[in-house]
Amino acid sequence: MPKPNTSVVIVGAGASGLHSAGLLQAQDVDVIVFEARNRIGGRLLSLPADGGHVDLGATWFWSNEPRMTNLVEEADLSAFAQHTAGDMVVQQAPGPAQRLDGNQFATPAGRLARGMQSVPETLASLLDNDVVHLEHIVSAISVVDGRVQVTANGQEVTADHVIVAIPPALAASAIDFDDQLPEPIAGLARATPVWMGSTVKVVATFEHAFWRDEGLAGAAFSYVGPMREIHDMSGPDGRPAALFGFCSLGIGDPAPTEADVQAQLLDLYGPDAAEPLAIHIMDWRTETFTSPKHVEALNNYQTYGHPRFQEPTLGGRLHWASTETSTVAPGHIEGALAAAERAVQNILNTVQVAD
Ligand SMILES: Cc1cc2nc3c(=O)[nH]c(=O)nc-3n(C[C@H](O)[C@H](O)[C@H](O)COP(=O)(O)OP(=O)(O)OC[C@H]3O[C@@H](n4cnc5c(N)ncnc54)[C@H](O)[C@@H]3O)c2cc1C
Repeated sequence: MPKPNTSVVIVGAGASGLHSAGLLQAQDVDVIVFEARNRIGGRLLSLPADGGHVDLGATWFWSNEPRMTNLVEEADLSAFAQHTAGDMVVQQAPGPAQRLDGNQFATPAGRLARGMQSVPETLASLLDNDVVHLEHIVSAISVVDGRVQVTANGQEVTADHVIVAIPPALAASAIDFDDQLPEPIAGLARATPVWMGSTVKVVATFEHAFWRDEGLAGAAFSYVGPMREIHDMSGPDGRPAALFGFCSLGIGDPAPTEADVQAQLLDLYGPDAAEPLAIHIMDWRTETFTSPKHVEALNNYQTYGHPRFQEPTLGGRLHWASTETSTVAPGHIEGALAAAERAVQNILNTVQVAD
């Protein structure tokens, strides 16, 4: 049961909300995090597989991302390099794919042995026990008598500030702001795409990374689908053995079935791909706590890191976090962390936080 009064309420226990909470707690600011799901992490979601992990949300981080690289180093999150060595395959038309020399997707990227979910787990481990409240859906935010009132599961909590660490378009559609959100910012929030919110991600695990034996990188591009772009998702030293693909779907197209995926894997990699241990299909479009309805219709990425997201609203009481609001690496986990730092700095700099 959350206490009825605090200094800062944070909506969402993704990377952005959890990092915000840690930074505030480190300054002795009283903080509550409301998380709608029964788990932390939001778009960071890893599944156990064959003694390791595969990722249904974010997969990679990059060496030019200082926040992520520091966090991974300091928490010793067992990073390893994305497997890119070998040739790729391309499927130009229905039927078997062709092998190409080299791998056009061979961009260096980092992975985490325990999956990307080890990022939110690390951030949450820094928080006091009673900070994060799972299965608490925030439905209303308004300013009453100079303080912000946040309603979660029908209960009201009053605070000096609220950090909205969920995609702005989701906030605009799912949270009742009592008509207090000024239209320029409300309109901007409604129009801001959810990064990867229109994506269907597929992960297939195998007994063995057979493609590597044949000098293949596991990378593939398909003009046929349902998966458009495919990469190796095996763990360090090839275990668990896995491939993952992003599907390219038209607005309203259904997610592929396991049979669709299986048929395409056979076309791409031949009979060795006939018996996956498991096929996971994650449709982020239908995740109520990631994507608002009609998420595919949002396509103006110029809104990312918009100046209005950098400023508080609701009389200085509401601060935007979430990766979409970041001026740095918007869309990436790095952006989620940077947005948290800006939101917290705005609270610490500009307003006296009550005890
Ligand atoms: C398929 C996919 C692949 C990706 N690949 C990469 C990658 O390789 N590298 C990379 O850097 N980034 C990648 N990303 C993006 C990355 O996952 C995000 O940038 C990052 O996780 C966003 O964190 P966030 O905290 O801003 O938002 P979220 O992770 O969306 O967190 C928001 C949280 O708020 C909660 N919430 C929502 N509504 C409410 C409510 N009403 N009340 C309370 N809580 C609520 C949600 O449950 C969630 O936990 C990928 C994303 C996806 C989906």
